[in-house]
Amino acid sequence: MYTPNILLIYTGGTIGMMKDHDTGALKSFDFDNLLEKIPELKLLDCTIETISFKEVIDSSNMNPNYWVTIAEIIESYYKKCDGFVVLHGSDTMSYSASALSFILEGLTKPVIFTGSQLPIGDLRTDAKENLITSIQIAALQENDQPIIKEVSLYFEYKLYRGNRTTKLNAEHFEAFASLNYPDLVESGVHLKINKEYLLKPKVEEQLKVQKKLNTNVAIIKLFPGISKEILKAILFTPGLEGVILETYGAGNTTTEPWFIYILNEAIKKNIHIINVTQCSGGSVIMGHYETSTQLKDIGVISGGDMTTEAAITKLMYLLAKNMPRNIFKNSFEQSLRGEIT
Ligand code: ASP
Repeated sequence: MYTPNILLIYTGGTIGMMKDHDTGALKSFDFDNLLEKIPELKLLDCTIETISFKEVIDSSNMNPNYWVTIAEIIESYYKKCDGFVVLHGSDTMSYSASALSFILEGLTKPVIFTGSQLPIGDLRTDAKENLITSIQIAALQENDQPIIKEVSLYFEYKLYRGNRTTKLNAEHFEAFASLNYPDLVESGVHLKINKEYLLKPKVEEQLKVQKKLNTNVAIIKLFPGISKEILKAILFTPGLEGVILETYGAGNTTTEPWFIYILNEAIKKNIHIINVTQCSGGSVIMGHYETSTQLKDIGVISGGDMTTEAAITKLMYLLAKNMPRNIFKNSFEQSLRGEIT
């Protein structure tokens, strides 16, 4: 029987940390120790190769250059490996999983992000289960093909589509949620694979890594009382090209004339404005209420039920492709990697 070969990419995060006995602070340790800590890995029905960032990072220091680094590692091992598990801090994991889902064009193999809330060396750690099951899922095959063919995120007994996730809890082992899309795999006594929800790219797709991302972007979260000056300062920032506007409920904003006027001025300056909801679940439906009709009229783009993490990374990705305005809007409003319903 064929033995899949899985690449484990260690970027940093709690999963590979230990306590500094002098200061009590958590700091990263050598990746080799991670494998020593989990001898059970040798029992899995796959071979495992490992590679680590030269300097591992807390994921709060994650940035687009590191995303490209992860993508380039996957690119260089793509022929040799059947699946990839990315060990990553949980804080920005949803951003990274979303970003990689766009960057890795034509992906037909599993890329599974995982991490943990407690360090691997901790007695009550959640790291072992997350790591072992992630590798097991990455190694799942059917007719000599990987079963998972997309960027996903495994945490606390569930595999989610990566670009549908949000970190919802800083303490619970169940730290992530995918409120607008069903779980891909549930891990109990058996692995329950929800095949109907998996992304099904064409097998003949070739991997192509888009290495350019445009970071001339911002996120504006609305709140009652947001001032003209602040809104103007952000929207008229020199060089700004795109904004994710986190609105209320189903995509609603204040209808005060100054607010719509400033947005309209920004759009006239060719800045793309995307409407996503600040609710954790549900969708923007522009025009549903009077309070979003004007947004639609002035050309605000609908982010549908996309998470903010997916929207901001999709924005960086699409801006880098320099497309005409109408094509940009169409691309944004349609599903590229299953990120929007
Ligand atoms: N601060 C850590 C990080 O995101 C937390 C974690 O690993 O869960 O890197």
